[in-house]
Amino acid sequence: MFAKTLIMKLMFRMMGLPTCEEVDQFAYDFLAGRLDAKIIHQVERHLKTCKNCQKFMVSYRKTYALAQNLPPPTLDSEFKEKMFKFLSKKGDA
Ligand SMILES: [Zn+2]
Repeated sequence: MFAKTLIMKLMFRMMGLPTCEEVDQFAYDFLAGRLDAKIIHQVERHLKTCKNCQKFMVSYRKTYALAQNLPPPTLDSEFKEKMFKFLSKKGDA
């Protein structure tokens, strides 16, 4: 298993492509479109040859999409009211 990973690593290096670890690190920025066009191209080429990273990227993309659809965190109004009362009481004392 280890030897296989090492061979893959060398192979990607020789092809001038990022290794699996690097694809892993680039994943977020890759999906956010924040990478250099050149690196995006390299990551895409890696994905074409690497089943592991393909699977990883599919599940990562789902997580990423979910995170994008979440509403921004807000304080609920009841909490705000309690906090306001608490703070104003504190001011009286
Ligand atoms: Zn890979």
